[in-house]
Amino acid sequence: MSGDGAFNGFTGYGKAGRGALRHLEDDSEYRGAPVPFGQKELDELTALDARWAWVEVDQSAIRDNTIAARKAIRPGTRLMAVVKADAYGHGAIACSRTALASGADYLGVATVQEAVELRNAGITAPIALLAEPPASSVPLLLAYRIEPAVYSPEFALAYAETADAHNMKAPYHLAVNTGMNRIGVRAEDVVEFERQVDFHRALVQVGTFTHFATADCPESLDFEIQLHRFNEALSALRSAGIDPGIVHAANSASIFRYPQTHFDMVRLGISLYGFPACKEVRDAAVLRPAMSVYARITAVKNVPVGEGVSYGMNYRSPGSVKICTVPLGYADGLRRGLSGRCSFVLDGQYCPQVGNICMDQCMFEVDMRSRPGVARLDPQVGDKVVIVGRSGDAVVTISEMAHALGTIEHEVAIGFSHRMPRVQV
Ligand SMILES: *Cc1c(COP(=O)(O)O)cnc(C)c1O
Repeated sequence: MSGDGAFNGFTGYGKAGRGALRHLEDDSEYRGAPVPFGQKELDELTALDARWAWVEVDQSAIRDNTIAARKAIRPGTRLMAVVKADAYGHGAIACSRTALASGADYLGVATVQEAVELRNAGITAPIALLAEPPASSVPLLLAYRIEPAVYSPEFALAYAETADAHNMKAPYHLAVNTGMNRIGVRAEDVVEFERQVDFHRALVQVGTFTHFATADCPESLDFEIQLHRFNEALSALRSAGIDPGIVHAANSASIFRYPQTHFDMVRLGISLYGFPACKEVRDAAVLRPAMSVYARITAVKNVPVGEGVSYGMNYRSPGSVKICTVPLGYADGLRRGLSGRCSFVLDGQYCPQVGNICMDQCMFEVDMRSRPGVARLDPQVGDKVVIVGRSGDAVVTISEMAHALGTIEHEVAIGFSHRMPRVQV
């Protein structure tokens, strides 16, 4: 299935050649030598014609992961798909459409621009902005119906006054700081905060939320303290006659680990894209990674024994290997720290990446010795190589890359940059 409605295959990238011709024809160096291709012909070439490295996003995995999260919560609980940072690098528009069509009710973003992009794509679902933006963005919030997090009286009043001046309401989600100390009104101060702003008739508290710092950590004491403070803040609001609206707290880890955090809505981020948030929830649901990264071989050579490969030459050819080059590097998000520490897959076989990963290219090794029971590979320019994903029984995961780098999947997935075309399948 596809989130974008169009295509059987490719979308989500610009055309390769659009707009270049007029400029070249004006350039003195080209005067008298008209470009021998029509603009239409050039426009029909895609980013994949121009580049042999791309990111593929499987929208059926986004759908299945949405359904898996729905199964983990009660039927009446709302599900927010967190699609910030271009859906963790997966393509926010396509993933939002798929998640909404598969049981999500709300979208969550980190910036005003991210929300505007979704609205411009025709998405009408409620969008929560999980941070308080600058007051100068208020016209955008109101025009595009974006529900911001609120935790400062100055912002709340600026928001309310602009809304009121246009006969509009100013819906918001009260952010409660229960211990992470990132954003939010301190839990013990929520009633006082509401008293400061609540008089304003335009403000509408559509939600109240907090965020857990340690839902994915093995020990749970800090988590328990945050949850306790959140419950206290909710009771205090209710005792003061203030309706907290839609109450939400759970991120991916707590969706699958702590059902007592589900309240009225949960916020599904990393697990929407197919990753368990921590080892404690590895068996809680079957999730499917949606992102694959592919490249095609651009060069194949025999490198004599002892010769080096790539910057620094800290890899030396053992002979009886072919060294293949693929056109992606750390500028595309294949982090340099993975140099010599990851493998790619060619024709179902693991091939070690060798030599330092360069900015735009890197190399891998194909063993050319005959080995019993292993088919001998014959790499050719143009062959498709799996950088992340599956080929036959061989699979390379973002999780193992994150582990090798000492980081989390979020950072690795988001890192696969927009210099690579995104293909939604
Ligand atoms: C990013 C974010 C989420 C999603 O977290 P995951 O761990 O990726 O599920 C949820 N809530 C808030 C406030 C966030 O900033």
